[in-house]
Amino acid sequence: MSLDGGSGDRREGQSPAGNAVAGGGNGVLPGDSIRPAAVSVSNQRLRLNPNKEHKPESYDDLQLEFSPSIFSSLERYLPPSMLGLPRADKVKFMREILLKYLPQGERNRVQKHREYRQKIISSYQPLHRELYTMHPGTTFVPSFLKAVSDNTEESFRSIMSEPSPGIFTFEILHPRFCELLLLEVENFEKWVNNAKFRIMRPNTMNRYGAVLDDFGLETMLDKLVDGFIRPISKVFFPEVGGATLDSHHGFIVEYGNDRDVDLGFHVDDSEVTLNVCLGKQFSGGELFFRGTRCDKHVNTGSHSEEIFDYSHVPGQAVLHRGRHRHGARATTSGHRINLLLWCRSSVFREMKKYQKDFSSWCGECSREKKERQRFSVAATKLELLRKEEGESTT
Ligand SMILES: [Zn+2]
Repeated sequence: MSLDGGSGDRREGQSPAGNAVAGGGNGVLPGDSIRPAAVSVSNQRLRLNPNKEHKPESYDDLQLEFSPSIFSSLERYLPPSMLGLPRADKVKFMREILLKYLPQGERNRVQKHREYRQKIISSYQPLHRELYTMHPGTTFVPSFLKAVSDNTEESFRSIMSEPSPGIFTFEILHPRFCELLLLEVENFEKWVNNAKFRIMRPNTMNRYGAVLDDFGLETMLDKLVDGFIRPISKVFFPEVGGATLDSHHGFIVEYGNDRDVDLGFHVDDSEVTLNVCLGKQFSGGELFFRGTRCDKHVNTGSHSEEIFDYSHVPGQAVLHRGRHRHGARATTSGHRINLLLWCRSSVFREMKKYQKDFSSWCGECSREKKERQRFSVAATKLELLRKEEGESTT
């Protein structure tokens, strides 16, 4: 398997003509399809500075192509005359602005994906609705909650092990929560089969599993990243955008004899990956890690100190950089289900475009840099020696 990142990006259905969706980016919201446009968008502009007093509405319940939190933050920039309008009108205005920043091909893809999600949400009946909103007290084990609320490196270290540099393991999800989530996953697998609905799989490498964000769990997972994973990543992974994680791809993978068996060596399309084993009973399925690499060095060999194997424990999380190369060995018996959260930082991705040296996190860049330093020290020494020799002979 190539190290191409097993991207979670979905490219299916993208029209090469770029125009297949009529009025792409001009889509209407549920409920306002028969009303004439209530606001004239063309002559309204966003404010330069946010209205900090204004309390934005919640957009959590809407299935839109942009995250609900983007709408909440953008609402403070709306022209004053729009603040009192119905939420649907505000959404329409903000969507049109946001869509302008996407190229046409991307817009079509986003539009198609939005329709796909709406199709699921409108017919899938969740089994445990409480999973769909974040309730920290029932989602996490108390030790994890305490460590995050203390929010210091010391408090995080107190619940974590770092068995190999950059790989952190800790107890995270409440057993009851794992149980309910497993039942929910089973429920939507059943729904997918009964409805003969063709679902998009989580990435290019897994033939089983499902994208949680497509099943209504996006908002809940957004809160998991914002409130819990970002504070930890800010401390342990600042050099890969850990402090600025702002989007995610959340999915379930399933392994076993009648599922995916193993997973080839790869890097994730994420800055930071949270991998939680939900259960059930299984043997095998160990993760093997082989050092962190930048794009340029992704296929270079690994050094002995980079070799690390990890055996999953239900309820326990592994947190690592997305660029930490890894794979999963065969799950030899039973059934293993893991929750994966690929956390991304748009700021980091933008900055990376202008950088060439990733020695703060790439094992190979770092090795090359040390080599260069050694070389330059040696050259300086030689230079000094020559000078001395020169002086002694005169
Ligand atoms: Zn490198």
